Amino acid sequence: MAQKTTFQNPGVESDTIETLSKKLLKTTAKLSAANKELSKTNNELAESERKRKEMLANISHDLRAPITAIRSALDLLSTLENPTAEDIKSTIGLMDRRVSTLESLIQDMYFLFCVEDETRPLDLEDVDLAPFLESYFYDAIIDSRYDSHDMQLDIPMDLSCHVNIDVQKTIRVLDNLFTNAAKYSGDGTSITLSCRTSGKNATITVSDNGRGIPAESLAHIFDRTYTVSSSRSPGSPTGSGLGLAIVKAVVEKENGTVTCESEVGKGCTFVITLPCK
Ligand code: ADP
Repeated sequence: MAQKTTFQNPGVESDTIETLSKKLLKTTAKLSAANKELSKTNNELAESERKRKEMLANISHDLRAPITAIRSALDLLSTLENPTAEDIKSTIGLMDRRVSTLESLIQDMYFLFCVEDETRPLDLEDVDLAPFLESYFYDAIIDSRYDSHDMQLDIPMDLSCHVNIDVQKTIRVLDNLFTNAAKYSGDGTSITLSCRTSGKNATITVSDNGRGIPAESLAHIFDRTYTVSSSRSPGSPTGSGLGLAIVKAVVEKENGTVTCESEVGKGCTFVITLPCK
C-alpha cells in the first residue's frame, strides 16, 4: 500500500508563528493600554461620585443649619405666653438673617447649575478688558463692604486687549473674588486688582494680604462646596463653598484658567488667564 507523507516547510511555520506572536504582543499591549484607560476612568468616576456625595452632604448640612435655627426660634417664641415686642423683634431679626443665608445658598446653587449646564451657552461678547476692569473697580470701591480695606488698582495705561467674555457672569467672578478677599482678611488689609498681557493672553489678578490658605487646601478650594475646615465652624466667616467653583466654571467656559497662590498669614493671589482676541 502506498504511503502518503506530508512534508512541512519549517520556514513557513516559523514565519507564521513569528507573525502571530507579534500580533499577539500588539494585541496584548493594546489590551493593557485599554485596561489602564478603563481603570483610570473608573477611578475618575469613583472620585466624581465621592465628590458628588460630599457636595450633597455639605449642601444638606448648609440647608439644614438655617432651617433648624428658624425652627428653634419659632418654637421658642411659641412657648412664650406673652412675648414682648423685643422678643418678636429679635426672633424676626434671626429669621431674616437665616433666610438670607438660605437665599444666597440657593442662588449660588442655581447659578452654578446654569453655568455647568452644557445646553446653556454663555452670553459671550467682545469686551475691551482695561475699561471693563476699571469700571468694575470704581463700582466696587463705593461698596460699603470694602470700606475697611485699602483698595488698589494696577492696570497699565497702555494695556490693550479685547477678550470674549460674558459680562454679567464675569462681574460675578470678580464679585466672588473680591468678597472672599474682604471676608477672609482683616480690617486695614489691601485688595488689589491688576491686569497684564503676555503674548496672546491677559492675566487678571485679585490679591489680598489676609489670612491666606494652607497648602493642603489649595488643591481643593475650587471644588464644589469645599470650605477650608474652620469656615464651617461657628464663628468663622460663612459661605456656601460654591463661590470659587462658580469662578472656575465661568472662567473655563470663557476658555480661560484660574489658579491660586497663597501663603498662610500672607494672603492670596487669584490669577485668571484669558485669551486676548
Ligand atoms: P465660601 O463660600 O466658603 O467662601 P469659596 O468657594 O468662595 O467658598 O471659597 C472656598 C474656601 O477657600 C473658603 O471657605 C475659604 O476658606 C478659602 N478662601 C477663598 N478665598 C480666600 C481668600 N481670599 N483668603 C483666604 N481664604 C480664602
